[in-house]
Amino acid sequence: MQFKAQRKETVVLNPLKDMAQRSIPSEIREDPLTGRTARICHFMKLQWEKPDFEAMVAGTEKTCPFCADKVMKVTPCFPPELVPEGRMTVDDMVLFPNIAPYDSLGAVATMGARHYTPMLEVTTGRMTKAFGLAMDFFKRLETLSHPESVYHLINWNFMPPSGSSLIHTHLQVFATSSAPNLMREELNAARTYTESNQTNYWDDLVSLEKETGERYLGRTGRIDWLLSYAPLGVAGDVLAIVDGVSSTMGLTDTDLADISTGLARLMKAYDRMGIYSFNMNFFTGRPSDDFYRFHLLFSPRTFFNQALGTPDIGALRNLFNETLCMAFPEDITRMLKPEFE
Ligand SMILES: [Zn+2]
Repeated sequence: MQFKAQRKETVVLNPLKDMAQRSIPSEIREDPLTGRTARICHFMKLQWEKPDFEAMVAGTEKTCPFCADKVMKVTPCFPPELVPEGRMTVDDMVLFPNIAPYDSLGAVATMGARHYTPMLEVTTGRMTKAFGLAMDFFKRLETLSHPESVYHLINWNFMPPSGSSLIHTHLQVFATSSAPNLMREELNAARTYTESNQTNYWDDLVSLEKETGERYLGRTGRIDWLLSYAPLGVAGDVLAIVDGVSSTMGLTDTDLADISTGLARLMKAYDRMGIYSFNMNFFTGRPSDDFYRFHLLFSPRTFFNQALGTPDIGALRNLFNETLCMAFPEDITRMLKPEFE
C-alpha cells in the first residue's frame, strides 16, 4: 500500500504588494486502493458561519410529509408481499417506500416525529434505533430471498447543503444488486488487492494508520475511525471500518450503537467549525466477500460562498469527479481527535 502525493506550486505576482512574488502550494493525492485522485488546495481556516436556523426552518413543517400529522397519511406503502403492514415503525420512526426511487427496493426512514433536529441533538439512541429499523427492513428482504437483496445501503443527507430536500431528519435505505460507482470500484480494487497480497486492504490500512497515527482518531467497540488520505469532501472525510465484517448484514446491534457513538463525536467536532450538514454512506460487500470490510464515510458539507449559497461542488467535482479538500487530512485529524480521547 502506498500513499502517493504529487506536490505542485503556483507562482503569482501580487499587485497590492509591488508585484511581490508569492508561491501557492497544492497537492494531488492518490487513494491507495483505487488510485482516484484528490486535490488538497484552496487552503483556508475550516471555519464557517452558522445560518439563522430559525429563519431557515420557519414554515417548512407546514408542507413536510414526514411530520407526525402527515406521515401515515401521505407516504406510500409497500405491497403486501414485501411489508404486509405497509410501513414499518419503531417508536415515532417510520420506514416507507421512497416515492422518488433510484432502484427497485428503496425506502426512506424518518428518524422521529420531530421536524427539525439540530445536528447536536441527533442523539446516539435515535441513530441506533433508526439504523436498527433499516436493518429490520433488510432482514425482511433477506428472508424473502429477494434478488435485489445483495448490497444493503444506508445513505444520510443531513440538512439542505448535503442534498437533502427536506429539513425533517431521515435516512435513505435501499438494497440493490447494482453497486454504485465508487463502491463498485472499491469492490474490484479490493478483490485485486487480496489476490496480490493475500491480505485484506482495510485490515492493512487500519494497522498502518494506527502505527503512524497521522490520520487515526480512535476506536468505538470494534470500529476504527480515521481520516481518508484522499478525501472526497472539502473538509475531509472520516472513514469508519468495522473489524472482521464484510457486509451490512454482519453488523450487530452493538455495532450500530458504536457507529452512532462515533458519528455523534464527529458531529460535535465539525459543529465547532460551523458545519451543520453532512453526507454519510454505508459501503458494503456481500457476506462472502472476505476481501472487503464494511465501512462508512462521513463527509461534512458546506459552501464555497455561503452568502450566495454556492455549493461546495463545482465543475471539477461534478464533471471530472476530481475532489478538493481545503486542509490537509492530517491537520483535520488533530481538530477531530479530542472527541475520541
Ligand atoms: Zn417534518
